[in-house]
Amino acid sequence: MILVTNNEGTLGVPATARMLAEGAHALDAIEAGIQVIEADPSVRTVGRGGWPNLLGEMELDACMMDGSTLRSGAVGALQGFLHPVSVAREIMRRLPHEFLVGDGAARFAREIGAEPADNLIEASRRAWQAWFDNEVPEQQKSAWPDTPLAPLCCHAIDPEVGRDTTVFLAHDAAGNICCGTSTSGWGWKYPGRLGDSPIVGAGSYADTRFGAAACTGAGEMTVRCGTARSIVLYMKKGAGVADAVAEAVDDMRALKGGLISRVTIHAIDTKGNHKVVAVNGAGDNKYWLWEGQGEPRLLAAEPVVITTAGTRATTTTRYTR
Ligand code: ASP
Repeated sequence: MILVTNNEGTLGVPATARMLAEGAHALDAIEAGIQVIEADPSVRTVGRGGWPNLLGEMELDACMMDGSTLRSGAVGALQGFLHPVSVAREIMRRLPHEFLVGDGAARFAREIGAEPADNLIEASRRAWQAWFDNEVPEQQKSAWPDTPLAPLCCHAIDPEVGRDTTVFLAHDAAGNICCGTSTSGWGWKYPGRLGDSPIVGAGSYADTRFGAAACTGAGEMTVRCGTARSIVLYMKKGAGVADAVAEAVDDMRALKGGLISRVTIHAIDTKGNHKVVAVNGAGDNKYWLWEGQGEPRLLAAEPVVITTAGTRATTTTRYTR
Protein backbone atom coordinates (compact mmCIF):
# COMPACT_ATOMS: atom_id res chain seq x y z
CA MET A 1 0.00 0.00 0.00
CA ILE A 2 1.11 3.53 -0.65
CA LEU A 3 -0.41 6.98 -0.42
CA VAL A 4 1.18 10.10 -1.88
CA THR A 5 -0.48 13.49 -1.52
CA ASN A 6 0.84 17.01 -1.58
CA ASN A 7 1.04 19.52 1.26
CA GLU A 8 -2.45 20.75 0.43
CA GLY A 9 -3.60 17.19 1.18
CA THR A 10 -2.46 17.41 4.81
CA LEU A 11 -5.94 17.56 6.34
CA GLY A 12 -7.09 14.56 4.31
CA VAL A 13 -4.14 12.27 5.04
CA PRO A 14 -5.52 10.74 8.27
CA ALA A 15 -8.87 9.78 6.71
CA THR A 16 -7.34 8.35 3.54
CA ALA A 17 -4.57 6.44 5.33
CA ARG A 18 -7.00 5.03 7.90
CA MET A 19 -9.39 3.81 5.22
CA LEU A 20 -6.58 2.25 3.20
CA ALA A 21 -5.34 0.51 6.36
CA GLU A 22 -8.86 -0.85 6.88
CA GLY A 23 -8.88 -2.30 3.37
CA ALA A 24 -10.99 0.33 1.62
CA HIS A 25 -10.90 0.72 -2.15
CA ALA A 26 -8.41 3.42 -3.13
CA LEU A 27 -11.17 5.48 -4.78
CA ASP A 28 -13.22 5.57 -1.57
CA ALA A 29 -10.19 6.46 0.53
CA ILE A 30 -9.10 9.22 -1.85
CA GLU A 31 -12.59 10.70 -2.11
CA ALA A 32 -12.91 10.81 1.69
CA GLY A 33 -9.56 12.60 2.08
CA ILE A 34 -10.29 15.15 -0.62
CA GLN A 35 -13.74 15.84 0.82
CA VAL A 36 -12.13 16.97 4.07
CA ILE A 37 -9.94 19.43 2.18
CA GLU A 38 -12.72 20.74 -0.05
CA ALA A 39 -14.90 21.55 2.96
CA ASP A 40 -12.16 23.25 4.97
CA PRO A 41 -11.90 26.97 4.18
CA SER A 42 -8.35 27.13 5.54
CA VAL A 43 -7.11 25.39 2.37
CA ARG A 44 -7.15 28.43 0.10
CA THR A 45 -6.68 26.67 -3.23
CA VAL A 46 -9.27 23.90 -3.05
CA GLY A 47 -13.06 23.88 -2.72
CA ARG A 48 -14.70 26.24 -0.23
CA GLY A 49 -12.18 28.93 0.62
CA GLY A 50 -10.41 28.69 -2.75
CA TRP A 51 -9.78 31.58 -5.11
CA PRO A 52 -12.38 33.05 -7.51
CA ASN A 53 -12.08 33.82 -11.22
CA LEU A 54 -11.75 37.26 -12.81
CA LEU A 55 -15.45 37.90 -12.19
CA GLY A 56 -15.15 36.99 -8.51
CA GLU A 57 -16.98 33.68 -9.02
CA MET A 58 -15.87 30.32 -7.69
CA GLU A 59 -15.38 27.73 -10.44
CA LEU A 60 -14.08 24.41 -9.13
CA ASP A 61 -12.38 21.53 -10.96
CA ALA A 62 -11.92 17.93 -9.82
CA CYS A 63 -11.17 14.49 -11.18
CA MET A 64 -11.05 10.86 -10.04
CA MET A 65 -9.59 7.94 -11.96
CA ASP A 66 -9.86 4.21 -11.27
CA GLY A 67 -6.72 2.59 -12.63
CA SER A 68 -8.30 -0.86 -12.61
CA THR A 69 -11.09 0.02 -15.06
CA LEU A 70 -9.54 3.12 -16.60
CA ARG A 71 -12.82 4.88 -15.87
CA SER A 72 -12.57 8.51 -14.88
CA GLY A 73 -14.98 11.18 -13.75
CA ALA A 74 -14.24 14.87 -13.95
CA VAL A 75 -15.96 18.20 -13.46
CA GLY A 76 -14.75 21.56 -14.70
CA ALA A 77 -15.84 25.09 -13.79
CA LEU A 78 -18.46 23.72 -11.40
CA GLN A 79 -20.25 26.41 -9.40
CA GLY A 80 -22.23 26.06 -6.20
CA PHE A 81 -21.37 22.65 -4.75
CA LEU A 82 -19.24 21.63 -1.77
CA HIS A 83 -17.68 18.44 -3.11
CA PRO A 84 -16.61 18.59 -6.76
CA VAL A 85 -14.63 15.38 -6.20
CA SER A 86 -17.82 13.49 -5.34
CA VAL A 87 -19.71 14.92 -8.32
CA ALA A 88 -16.77 13.68 -10.43
CA ARG A 89 -17.03 10.25 -8.80
CA GLU A 90 -20.76 10.07 -9.54
CA ILE A 91 -20.14 10.84 -13.23
CA MET A 92 -18.01 7.70 -13.26
CA ARG A 93 -20.78 5.73 -11.56
CA ARG A 94 -23.89 7.01 -13.30
CA LEU A 95 -23.02 8.29 -16.77
CA PRO A 96 -21.52 6.90 -19.95
CA HIS A 97 -19.41 10.08 -19.97
CA GLU A 98 -16.12 11.02 -18.34
CA PHE A 99 -16.23 14.82 -18.05
CA LEU A 100 -18.90 17.50 -17.47
CA VAL A 101 -18.32 21.24 -17.33
CA GLY A 102 -20.09 24.43 -16.32
CA ASP A 103 -23.91 24.48 -16.34
CA GLY A 104 -24.14 20.82 -17.34
CA ALA A 105 -21.96 19.77 -14.42
CA ALA A 106 -24.08 21.88 -12.04
CA ARG A 107 -27.26 20.41 -13.46
CA PHE A 108 -25.92 16.90 -12.89
CA ALA A 109 -24.85 17.82 -9.35
CA ARG A 110 -28.39 19.03 -8.61
CA GLU A 111 -29.89 15.87 -10.12
CA ILE A 112 -27.88 13.62 -7.85
CA GLY A 113 -28.59 15.72 -4.77
CA ALA A 114 -25.01 16.92 -4.29
CA GLU A 115 -24.59 19.27 -1.34
CA PRO A 116 -24.90 22.91 -2.43
CA ALA A 117 -22.46 25.48 -1.04
CA ASP A 118 -21.42 29.09 -1.35
CA ASN A 119 -17.72 28.44 -1.84
CA LEU A 120 -16.63 32.09 -1.86
CA ILE A 121 -15.56 32.92 1.66
CA GLU A 122 -15.33 36.50 2.87
CA ALA A 123 -11.51 36.55 2.88
CA SER A 124 -11.39 35.49 -0.78
CA ARG A 125 -14.10 37.99 -1.70
CA ARG A 126 -12.11 40.77 -0.01
CA ALA A 127 -8.91 39.69 -1.81
CA TRP A 128 -10.73 39.73 -5.14
CA GLN A 129 -12.21 43.16 -4.33
CA ALA A 130 -8.75 44.51 -3.51
CA TRP A 131 -7.48 43.22 -6.85
CA PHE A 132 -10.48 44.77 -8.64
CA ASP A 133 -10.01 48.12 -6.89
CA ASN A 134 -6.26 48.27 -7.47
CA GLU A 135 -5.72 46.66 -10.88
CA VAL A 136 -8.79 47.11 -13.08
CA PRO A 137 -8.63 50.30 -15.18
CA GLU A 138 -11.33 52.86 -14.31
CA GLN A 139 -13.09 52.69 -17.70
CA GLN A 140 -13.36 48.91 -17.34
CA LYS A 141 -14.73 49.23 -13.81
CA SER A 142 -17.59 51.42 -14.99
CA ALA A 143 -18.55 48.91 -17.71
CA TRP A 144 -18.06 45.86 -15.46
CA PRO A 145 -18.73 43.02 -16.19
CA ASP A 146 -19.47 43.86 -19.86
CA THR A 147 -15.87 44.64 -20.65
CA PRO A 148 -13.09 42.61 -22.27
CA LEU A 149 -11.52 40.37 -19.67
CA ALA A 150 -8.66 39.11 -21.84
CA PRO A 151 -6.41 42.12 -21.08
CA LEU A 152 -6.82 41.31 -17.38
CA CYS A 153 -5.67 37.72 -17.79
CA CYS A 154 -2.08 38.74 -17.17
CA HIS A 155 -3.22 39.12 -13.55
CA ALA A 156 -4.11 35.42 -13.29
CA ILE A 157 -2.05 34.42 -10.32
CA ASP A 158 -1.57 32.07 -7.52
CA PRO A 159 -2.41 34.60 -4.80
CA GLU A 160 -0.52 32.56 -2.23
CA VAL A 161 2.66 31.55 -4.00
CA GLY A 162 3.35 27.87 -3.86
CA ARG A 163 -0.11 26.74 -2.78
CA ASP A 164 -1.76 24.26 -5.08
CA THR A 165 -4.45 21.89 -6.14
CA THR A 166 -4.61 18.83 -3.94
CA VAL A 167 -3.65 15.54 -5.56
CA PHE A 168 -3.91 12.04 -4.10
CA LEU A 169 -2.32 8.87 -5.49
CA ALA A 170 -3.07 5.56 -3.76
CA HIS A 171 -2.34 1.87 -4.16
CA ASP A 172 -4.78 -0.10 -1.98
CA ALA A 173 -4.52 -3.50 -0.28
CA ALA A 174 -6.38 -5.18 -3.16
CA GLY A 175 -3.88 -3.77 -5.65
CA ASN A 176 -5.97 -0.99 -7.20
CA ILE A 177 -4.09 2.16 -8.16
CA CYS A 178 -6.26 5.30 -8.29
CA CYS A 179 -5.91 9.05 -8.21
CA GLY A 180 -7.94 12.15 -7.42
CA THR A 181 -7.55 15.90 -7.73
CA SER A 182 -9.49 18.98 -6.62
CA THR A 183 -8.81 22.69 -7.07
CA SER A 184 -10.18 26.18 -7.46
CA GLY A 185 -7.52 26.67 -10.14
CA TRP A 186 -5.59 29.89 -10.62
CA GLY A 187 -6.88 32.96 -8.85
CA TRP A 188 -8.39 35.55 -11.21
CA LYS A 189 -8.50 33.05 -14.10
CA TYR A 190 -10.58 33.78 -17.19
CA PRO A 191 -14.13 32.47 -16.57
CA GLY A 192 -14.41 28.96 -17.99
CA ARG A 193 -10.67 28.36 -17.85
CA LEU A 194 -9.85 24.73 -17.07
CA GLY A 195 -6.43 23.82 -15.79
CA ASP A 196 -4.97 20.35 -15.83
CA SER A 197 -6.66 19.16 -12.63
CA PRO A 198 -9.91 17.95 -14.26
CA ILE A 199 -8.20 16.79 -17.46
CA VAL A 200 -7.40 13.10 -17.43
CA GLY A 201 -3.95 12.54 -18.82
CA ALA A 202 -2.75 16.06 -18.05
CA GLY A 203 -3.30 16.66 -14.32
CA SER A 204 -3.70 13.02 -13.34
CA TYR A 205 -3.75 9.48 -14.68
CA ALA A 206 -3.87 6.02 -13.10
CA ASP A 207 -3.40 2.54 -14.54
CA THR A 208 -3.24 -0.31 -12.04
CA ARG A 209 -0.92 -2.23 -14.37
CA PHE A 210 1.82 0.43 -14.23
CA GLY A 211 1.25 3.25 -11.73
CA ALA A 212 -0.18 6.73 -11.45
CA ALA A 213 0.84 10.36 -11.69
CA ALA A 214 -0.65 13.72 -10.78
CA CYS A 215 0.51 17.30 -11.20
CA THR A 216 0.02 20.66 -9.53
CA GLY A 217 1.09 24.14 -10.50
CA ALA A 218 0.78 25.66 -13.97
CA GLY A 219 -1.78 23.37 -15.56
CA GLU A 220 -1.26 25.09 -18.89
CA MET A 221 2.13 23.35 -19.09
CA THR A 222 0.96 19.84 -18.23
CA VAL A 223 -2.06 20.12 -20.54
CA ARG A 224 0.34 20.86 -23.41
CA CYS A 225 2.59 17.94 -22.50
CA GLY A 226 -0.05 15.40 -21.44
CA THR A 227 2.23 14.96 -18.46
CA ALA A 228 0.39 12.48 -16.21
CA ARG A 229 -0.46 10.10 -19.06
CA SER A 230 3.07 10.35 -20.43
CA ILE A 231 4.57 9.27 -17.11
CA VAL A 232 2.37 6.17 -16.95
CA LEU A 233 3.16 5.41 -20.59
CA TYR A 234 6.90 5.79 -19.97
CA MET A 235 6.49 3.27 -17.13
CA LYS A 236 4.61 0.93 -19.47
CA LYS A 237 7.52 1.13 -21.88
CA GLY A 238 9.87 0.03 -19.12
CA ALA A 239 11.05 3.16 -17.33
CA GLY A 240 11.27 3.17 -13.54
CA VAL A 241 9.16 5.80 -11.83
CA ALA A 242 12.06 8.25 -11.42
CA ASP A 243 13.10 7.91 -15.08
CA ALA A 244 9.49 8.23 -16.23
CA VAL A 245 9.14 11.51 -14.34
CA ALA A 246 12.51 12.69 -15.69
CA GLU A 247 11.29 12.02 -19.26
CA ALA A 248 8.13 14.02 -18.61
CA VAL A 249 10.19 16.89 -17.22
CA ASP A 250 12.36 16.71 -20.32
CA ASP A 251 9.23 16.97 -22.48
CA MET A 252 8.49 20.30 -20.77
CA ARG A 253 11.77 21.68 -22.06
CA ALA A 254 10.20 21.68 -25.54
CA LEU A 255 7.50 24.15 -24.49
CA LYS A 256 7.85 27.49 -26.26
CA GLY A 257 5.82 30.54 -25.30
CA GLY A 258 2.61 30.49 -23.31
CA LEU A 259 2.53 30.36 -19.56
CA ILE A 260 5.69 28.83 -18.17
CA SER A 261 5.84 28.67 -14.42
CA ARG A 262 6.20 25.94 -11.80
CA VAL A 263 4.80 22.40 -11.80
CA THR A 264 5.08 19.69 -9.17
CA ILE A 265 4.86 16.11 -10.41
CA HIS A 266 3.88 13.20 -8.15
CA ALA A 267 4.15 9.58 -9.33
CA ILE A 268 3.93 6.04 -7.96
CA ASP A 269 4.55 2.66 -9.54
CA THR A 270 3.12 -0.79 -8.75
CA LYS A 271 6.05 -1.80 -6.52
CA GLY A 272 5.71 0.85 -3.83
CA ASN A 273 8.21 3.27 -5.37
CA HIS A 274 7.41 6.95 -5.79
CA LYS A 275 8.93 10.15 -7.14
CA VAL A 276 7.97 13.77 -6.53
CA VAL A 277 9.77 16.61 -8.32
CA ALA A 278 9.21 20.36 -8.21
CA VAL A 279 9.86 21.82 -11.67
CA ASN A 280 10.95 25.46 -11.37
CA GLY A 281 9.75 25.18 -7.77
CA ALA A 282 10.56 27.49 -4.94
CA GLY A 283 12.50 24.68 -3.30
CA ASP A 284 10.08 24.13 -0.45
CA ASN A 285 7.45 21.90 -2.05
CA LYS A 286 6.41 19.22 0.39
CA TYR A 287 4.43 16.02 0.03
CA TRP A 288 3.08 13.27 2.28
CA LEU A 289 4.15 9.67 1.94
CA TRP A 290 2.42 6.83 3.77
CA GLU A 291 3.67 3.33 3.00
CA GLY A 292 0.96 1.23 4.61
CA GLN A 293 2.31 1.28 8.15
CA GLY A 294 3.60 3.75 10.68
CA GLU A 295 3.00 7.46 10.50
CA PRO A 296 2.74 9.40 7.23
CA ARG A 297 5.94 11.34 6.56
CA LEU A 298 6.20 14.89 5.19
CA LEU A 299 9.05 14.93 2.65
CA ALA A 300 10.57 17.49 0.31
CA ALA A 301 10.08 17.30 -3.45
CA GLU A 302 13.25 17.20 -5.50
CA PRO A 303 13.78 20.56 -7.20
CA VAL A 304 14.40 20.58 -10.97
CA VAL A 305 15.01 23.65 -13.10
CA ILE A 306 14.03 23.72 -16.75
CA THR A 307 14.91 26.55 -19.04
CA THR A 308 12.29 27.57 -21.54
CA ALA A 309 11.59 30.57 -23.67
CA GLY A 310 8.11 31.07 -22.25
CA THR A 311 6.43 33.71 -20.21
CA ARG A 312 6.03 33.47 -16.50
CA ALA A 313 2.76 34.50 -14.92
CA THR A 314 3.42 38.01 -13.73
CA THR A 315 1.93 40.09 -11.05
CA THR A 316 3.25 42.81 -8.86
CA THR A 317 0.82 42.37 -6.03
CA ARG A 318 -0.05 39.39 -3.91
CA TYR A 319 -3.54 39.26 -2.48
CA THR A 320 -3.35 37.12 0.54
CA ARG A 321 -5.66 36.56 3.42
N1 ASP B 1 -2.83 22.89 -11.54
C1 ASP B 1 -3.83 23.84 -11.13
C2 ASP B 1 -4.41 24.51 -12.32
O1 ASP B 1 -3.71 24.72 -13.31
C3 ASP B 1 -3.36 24.90 -10.19
C4 ASP B 1 -2.42 24.52 -9.09
O2 ASP B 1 -2.19 23.35 -8.81
O3 ASP B 1 -1.83 25.44 -8.47
O4 ASP B 1 -5.56 24.90 -12.27
